[in-house]
Amino acid sequence: MAANLAADSTKGKNNDLTPSQEKSYDCAVIGTGPAGMIAALALASNGLETVLIGPPVNLNDARTTALMDASRQFLDNIGIWKDLRSAFTPLEKMRLIDGTDRLLRAPETTFSASELDLPAFGYNILNKDLNRVLFDLVNNNELIELVEDTIKNVSSNDHKATIELSNTPDISCHVVIGADGRNSVVRRSAGIETKNWKYPQAALVLNLKHDLPHYNISTEFHRNTGPFTMVPLPGKTSSLVYVETPERAEELNNYKDEALEAELEKLSKFVLGSLKLASPRQVYPLSGLTAVHMSGNRSLLMGEAAHAFPPIGAQGLNLSLRDVAVATELLANAKHTKADMGSAELLQKYDRSRKADVISRTTAVDLLNRSLLTDALPVQMLRSLGLYTASRIPLVRRLLMREGIAPSWSLPTLMRAQND
Ligand SMILES: Cc1cc2nc3c(=O)[nH]c(=O)nc-3n(C[C@H](O)[C@H](O)[C@H](O)COP(=O)(O)OP(=O)(O)OC[C@H]3O[C@@H](n4cnc5c(N)ncnc54)[C@H](O)[C@@H]3O)c2cc1C
Repeated sequence: MAANLAADSTKGKNNDLTPSQEKSYDCAVIGTGPAGMIAALALASNGLETVLIGPPVNLNDARTTALMDASRQFLDNIGIWKDLRSAFTPLEKMRLIDGTDRLLRAPETTFSASELDLPAFGYNILNKDLNRVLFDLVNNNELIELVEDTIKNVSSNDHKATIELSNTPDISCHVVIGADGRNSVVRRSAGIETKNWKYPQAALVLNLKHDLPHYNISTEFHRNTGPFTMVPLPGKTSSLVYVETPERAEELNNYKDEALEAELEKLSKFVLGSLKLASPRQVYPLSGLTAVHMSGNRSLLMGEAAHAFPPIGAQGLNLSLRDVAVATELLANAKHTKADMGSAELLQKYDRSRKADVISRTTAVDLLNRSLLTDALPVQMLRSLGLYTASRIPLVRRLLMREGIAPSWSLPTLMRAQND
C-alpha cells in the first residue's frame, strides 16, 4: 500500500526507521514522471516489491502524449489500459502535408491504421489526465510504496544498492530504476557519461479548440523550420507541437491570443477551421541526449535519464516504455529464479538489449528533423521520393507504418499481444 512519507512526516511505515534499520525492497524506481510511475506499476504487476521515489506528481502538465499501439498493448498486458482507455483519443489516420516552399515537394499522404488491421495507430492523452490515473493506480497498489522525496545519491556493493534521500532515511534495494529525467542523479551516481546536442529550433506547445471535427486524424505539416503537428484530443480539440526557430517561437509566444490564433489558422491551412487557444503556451528548446551506458551501479536507466530527443514523431515515452518492458521481463525472471536482480550480468544484458532501439529511434528523429532543415537538393529529393514511394507502394506503406508504431525486429515480449 502506498505511504506518502514526505508529505506528512508523521505517517507512513518507514517513519520509525533509523538509517541503520533501513527498509529493503526488490526495486526502487526513482522519478514520478510517466516513465517512473508506469515502471513501478509494471514491476508490481510481476510481483516485485517496489518503492517509488520522487517529488509530488505533476497533475497540471498541459502537454499531451501520443502512445502508439505497441505501448497500448503493453499497458493492457500489465493490467492498466482498462483504467486509462477512456482518457485517450484514438489516432485512426495520419496525414502528412509538405508545407515547405521548396522546389521539390512531397505529395500529401494519408496513412490509415485500418491498412494494418488496427483500430488506431496510437492514442493521445493530456499528460495531466495520464498522471492522475497513474498516481491513483500507484496509490492503490499493495506492492508499491510511494515516498515523496528527492534522492541525493545511490551507492552499491555486491549485495544491495543504498539510496540517500533528501528528507527521509536511506532506502536499500536489489536494483534501482533511474527514471529521474534528463539530469538524472541515478546516472550521475553510476558515473555514466552522456552525449548531448542542441538543435537550432524550439517547440511552441499548446492545445486548441477548433470548429471543424478532426475525425481522429493527426495532421502534420512539414515546414522548412520543422514540423507543425496537430494531434486529436476529445471532441473538437487537438494538441499542437509547432517547431520553429527559437527567435520565432519566442516572438509567437508573446503574441496576443487573437493574433496567435490567426497565425495558426493560416499555418494549418484551415484544415480544422477557425482555432481558439485552449491551454497555456509553453516553449521547449530542442535538444538531444543519450547515456553512453544504460546501466551500472546496480541501476538501470530508462526514459529521459537514458535518452531524450525532440518531440517529433511521438517517440519519447513510447521508447521509454520499451525500456520498462525489457527491464520488467529481466527483473521478473531474476526474481522468480531467485537470481540477483542487480547482478553485473543482468545489468549488461539490459544495456545490450536496449542499445540498438535507442540508437535507431534517436537517429530516425534526428534525420527526419534535419531533412526538413536542410536546403541540400539531394536530401529534399530523398524525402520527397520517400513519401511519394510510401504513398504508392502498399508494401512500403505498411513497413513505414509498422516501424512508426514500434520496431518489429526487437519488440519486447511484454509488448506483444498475448496470443502472439
Ligand atoms: C512537448 C513535448 C511533447 C511530447 N510528446 C510526446 C508524445 O506525443 N509521445 C511520446 O511518446 N513522447 C512525447 N514526449 C516525450 C515525453 O514527454 C517524455 O519522454 C516523457 O515525459 C519522459 O518521461 P520521463 O518520466 O522519463 O521524464 P520526466 O517526465 O522528466 O520525469 C522525471 C521525473 O524524475 C523526477 N526527478 C528528477 N530528479 C529527481 C531526484 N533527484 N529524485 C527523485 N526524483 C527526481 C522528476 O521530478 C520527474 O518526476 C513529448 C515531450 C515534449 C517536451
